Amino acid sequence: MSAEKIIPLCVPNIIGNEWKYVKDCLDTGWISSVGSYVSKFEEMVAEYVGAKYGIATMNGTAALHISLIIAGVEHGDYVIIPNITFVATANAVMHAGAEPILIDAYADTWQMNLELLETFLEEETCIKEGERVLTKDSRRVKAIMPVHIQGNIGDMNKFMEITERFQLFVIEDSTEALGSTFEGRHSGTFGQIGTFSFNGNKIVSTGGGGVVVTDNEQISRRIKHITTTAKTDPIKYYHDEVGYNYRLVNVLAAMGVAQMENIDFFVNKKQEIDYYYRKHLEGVGDISFQKILPNVNHNGWLFTIKSDQQAKILEHLANKKITSRPFWMPMNKLPMYKDCHYINDDDTCGRIHETCLALPCSTNITLEELERVVFEIKSVFQ
Ligand SMILES: *Cc1c(COP(=O)(O)O)cnc(C)c1O
Repeated sequence: MSAEKIIPLCVPNIIGNEWKYVKDCLDTGWISSVGSYVSKFEEMVAEYVGAKYGIATMNGTAALHISLIIAGVEHGDYVIIPNITFVATANAVMHAGAEPILIDAYADTWQMNLELLETFLEEETCIKEGERVLTKDSRRVKAIMPVHIQGNIGDMNKFMEITERFQLFVIEDSTEALGSTFEGRHSGTFGQIGTFSFNGNKIVSTGGGGVVVTDNEQISRRIKHITTTAKTDPIKYYHDEVGYNYRLVNVLAAMGVAQMENIDFFVNKKQEIDYYYRKHLEGVGDISFQKILPNVNHNGWLFTIKSDQQAKILEHLANKKITSRPFWMPMNKLPMYKDCHYINDDDTCGRIHETCLALPCSTNITLEELERVVFEIKSVFQ
């Protein structure tokens, strides 16, 4: 095999009206903070997931940060997150002045371990002056951010039951899970607030972007207000609080509108890729897959396998110009988060990190490319 092309991991797929709508922005001069594509994009995302309101932000991290502020998270509070996630989840907590409490994952679904969560809340927290606090230092445990890892969803019935019982504000980090459902309900609509990312590697991309969704009108207004500099008068420069310039610009929203027009195609394509890999890698060496609960329809965002030969497979695929990546470094292994409370069961996250790897799964990947990936992975085990 000579001079083969690099197969990327997960890249955008520009197949619709992107050029047309972006050109429209350029032709009319509406490229920045004002223009009709922003509200159109917000409406499309909200409608697609079945939420009442959508507010666009410049990226998913900003969406998480602003959601934490709206949740009332303040300096010195704790926010519960999974130990294995992309670093943005933990960073957003720090941006809000709070500190993450890290929860280990299940070995099969890779989602937050709810037994550990429940035991932690029962044994290490209590109510003090009407607020849930960590018993040992009386600091508030204000919110929880479940992350739908790789677009998969855990048991949301159990999750919501626990978080309601312990009165935690729920912000879903649904940045990877646009299009995934649990019992027919879209990710991002279980908590008070849900967040999506439209980064280059996500299932729908604006280059960079985010959307916050909620059913609560007051929350929606507050988010729009403080993500657009908290301006109350468009002419007199009157701002009534410290706001943020977190808005998404019109030219990127135009991309988003065009991409959202193809969301069904993207989800179907991801699911086909997921199906292809599961079918052809089943029984190859010790390879296993992320478990999907029977009541979950998974968007197949980032196809990931598990094998003790992770390092060998990564190296072999790199030599063959096939892009693959190990699972994220768990938060407790990063210098900023190593001293955080880590509620764990024999550090399952550490094992996920050491054994899992993501495979190419762009929605424009060809059958020949999929065959090449499978062929090369099989060759590692021969
Ligand atoms: C992509 C992602 C984010 C952040 O999104 P950006 O748009 O890149 O800021 C946050 N959390 C998780 C789990 C992600 O995968």
